[in-house]
Amino acid sequence: MKIYESNTGEYNLVMAYPAVESFALSSLGYLWLYKMADTKEGINALRISTDNISVNTKNINAISFSMSFDFDYLGVLEILEKLKIPFYSKNRDESYPFVFAGGPVLTTNPMPYVNFFDFIIMGDGEEVFSHILDILMLKLSKEETLKRLSELESVYVPDINNKTVKRASVSLNNVIYTPLISDKSYFKNTFIIEVSRGCMNRCAFCTASYTNLPYRYYDYEKIIECIELGLKYTNKIALLGAQISAHPRFNDIMKYISDKISNGVNIELGISSLRTDAISDEVIQTLVKGGQKHTTIAIEAASERLRKFINKNLKEEQILNAVKTARENGLKGLKIYSMLGIPTETEADISKFLSLAKKIKEENKGFNIEFSFSTFVPKPQTPLQWSKREDTKSLEKKQKYLEKELSKIGVNSKFSSAKWDYWQTVLSRSNENIASLLIEVYKSGGNIGAYKSALKNLGIDISKSIEGFDFDETLPWDIVESNPSKEHLKNEYKRLERRK
Ligand code: SF4
Repeated sequence: MKIYESNTGEYNLVMAYPAVESFALSSLGYLWLYKMADTKEGINALRISTDNISVNTKNINAISFSMSFDFDYLGVLEILEKLKIPFYSKNRDESYPFVFAGGPVLTTNPMPYVNFFDFIIMGDGEEVFSHILDILMLKLSKEETLKRLSELESVYVPDINNKTVKRASVSLNNVIYTPLISDKSYFKNTFIIEVSRGCMNRCAFCTASYTNLPYRYYDYEKIIECIELGLKYTNKIALLGAQISAHPRFNDIMKYISDKISNGVNIELGISSLRTDAISDEVIQTLVKGGQKHTTIAIEAASERLRKFINKNLKEEQILNAVKTARENGLKGLKIYSMLGIPTETEADISKFLSLAKKIKEENKGFNIEFSFSTFVPKPQTPLQWSKREDTKSLEKKQKYLEKELSKIGVNSKFSSAKWDYWQTVLSRSNENIASLLIEVYKSGGNIGAYKSALKNLGIDISKSIEGFDFDETLPWDIVESNPSKEHLKNEYKRLERRK
């Protein structure tokens, strides 16, 4: 159900989501830009995803993609192939639509994908998108259109730009919410409200923080208005933001929802994530009242030394308190999220997971605890962007050890695939030379075997993306004007190293 009035026009813009429709319908940023296009006079906006393509290429003027995850490129190539559009922009003449993209993956490092797109949006899309549409609707020649687009501050045109591009960071005025409520969405019939953007904590590995600085939030009154708007259409409300608990009136927002539930309003409340140190009796009580049974806290590492090194300034006492508060206030269980393979990690840091798990288990008998581990993927635009990625075999050994030892103390554990995380690292830190590898992988089915054989067949050197970079080296993503600056990231890394 659309909760706004559409407009239409002569310019056919296809907004493609490079995954299945249920994910598209739960992606707030994508849906919001779709709404912007769909309400703009002169634009006929169409939504497609990998499992829902019903457009005629001949009539398309432009096609946009939103890339939120590293492996989304597979969906991009799948859609381009289904629409019979050549993958490489250099093989598309004026008879083809413009193909452009935006999203967190590209803002962090656009280079692996630059050969596929005519232009790329860097950073927040909601302001620049409107300017882009105005230029596209002029229907000028491809050359002139790209020239004008390249003059926009946060648009990168690979064929023209030879300077760095600034990522857009907008001020948050009108609250962004789900403009399309659907039972086909991954979050069924849920009205998602963006409460804040970014996170001021600057954990040294975190792109959600570093590529979204400064931390911004919407006015309390506007959020409340938005909650009321959502409740006209559904009882499922979700609050979104990497660090919503840092909103200066977060407790008031929770109280507002809690009071409504107490007054008989049926609200199912979901919160994307909570900072461990923000867990309080009131917050958990509201979540429980709103039907939530479990939540996740991210501790990243069990040892305080390692947490200090990655700038996750969380004391063990705070973790223990968070679990206790979650249990005492009625949650059924808690997932504790961590990473393995953080630079400088030692055997003692790994053993610390066991002593922490034991302590949590003893203090919270009968409470459902699960440890969930991913492996460290060094990300561009963060102080750890230069770091080496740990060897897959060594990570798998740590995973097996922890799985066995945690189960001995009766704690469940889950692990991401170290092999897939390896390829995520390659995608995150590569340059444009891997474009042919990506195409080959896509054509061979996109599984782990496909990556290995494509690498062997093409002989592309991906070692730098795994081994890491020297401080004074040019980085593939230097085209993105880092904010904070590269110098700042270097100094931050050095500062953290002194703390380890
Ligand atoms: S608290 Fe979470 S979102 Fe914030 S910087 Fe750390 S990992 Fe990122």
